[in-house]
Amino acid sequence: MSSITVCARFRPLSSKEKRDHNDSICIHILDAGTLIFKDEKEEDHLFCFDRVFCQESEQSDVYEFLALPIIQDAVNAINGTILTYGQTGAGKTYSMEGPNILEGNEKKKGLLPRVVEGLFDCLRSSEKVYTVKLSMVEIYMEKVRDLFDLSKDNLQIKEDKIQGIYLSGVTEVSVLDPEEALQNLCNGIANRAVGETQMNMASSRSHCVYIFTIQQECTGERRLKTGKIILVDLAGSEKVEKTGAEGKVLEEAKTINKSLSALGNVINALTSGTPGKANHIPYRDSKLTRILQDALGGNSRTALLCCCSPSTLNASESLSTLRFGARAK
Ligand code: ADP
Ligand code: MG
Repeated sequence: MSSITVCARFRPLSSKEKRDHNDSICIHILDAGTLIFKDEKEEDHLFCFDRVFCQESEQSDVYEFLALPIIQDAVNAINGTILTYGQTGAGKTYSMEGPNILEGNEKKKGLLPRVVEGLFDCLRSSEKVYTVKLSMVEIYMEKVRDLFDLSKDNLQIKEDKIQGIYLSGVTEVSVLDPEEALQNLCNGIANRAVGETQMNMASSRSHCVYIFTIQQECTGERRLKTGKIILVDLAGSEKVEKTGAEGKVLEEAKTINKSLSALGNVINALTSGTPGKANHIPYRDSKLTRILQDALGGNSRTALLCCCSPSTLNASESLSTLRFGARAK
């Protein structure tokens, strides 16, 4: 059985929510890990998480609670995954990147730039020698695209004894310092936008996956010790209205739904298994879960950030996001 850190985060009300819905809020936070959610029928639901981040929470709070332990483990060759989940507009990308990752706004910067800095800090204070490699891919309609090289638009996922799970042919950039890592991440983000325009697709319809591979050079030993940190900004979890959606939009929605369900099923299988007994984990049901296979469950650390709007306007989507999180515990 694995344990997964599950947190909920509520962003501040948007100006539209304030204007159209009278500042009306559907949550009441009781303590650091508990909240009461009021649904559209005014019924209360109690949720318990490892941590609830309120509207005033700081990016640094989220980083310290969710990401710092994962960095410390990755340096010791334990893989980790951080996922942001929720409907479009709920704050996934804000939590992951912040307003702009190159801008370097100390207060507002998100998990990704903080992980970069935290990781290099951690490596600098170690006596061992490390190399850090970075890859960035996007999963759209069950195809994996290399965000460092858009010509590689259908990467295959493979597995071997030495590397574990890997993306065959993916661009891996060696980065020597935080500045170099951030510059590459920016290039990947810019490429993503180019690809979206070419394919006429919104970024909220694909999963964005950031992979840090941290290799420890062991003197005296031949084998290299490797830890991975994978960050995933998931596609929007909102239900697409059955009426009206057709063609491409409907296909996208079905594909996203399938891969998010596959993620939920893998997490549930990991957390609900009987200790000491191997149960089947359905990693192969989606590209997303397959890529995450050796960084999700087993000897690895996982953190799930469930992002929600606090407004009654989005109550039904927020409730389903909180339920996804609650099932992952
Ligand atoms: P998503 O990636 O889930 O679609 P975004 O991260 O793009 O959502 O957030 C939607 C909007 O809300 C953006 O304008 C973003 O700046 C704002 N926002 C989200 N979370 C926060 C927060 N914690 N504090 C301030 N603004 C936020
Ligand atoms: Mg987003």
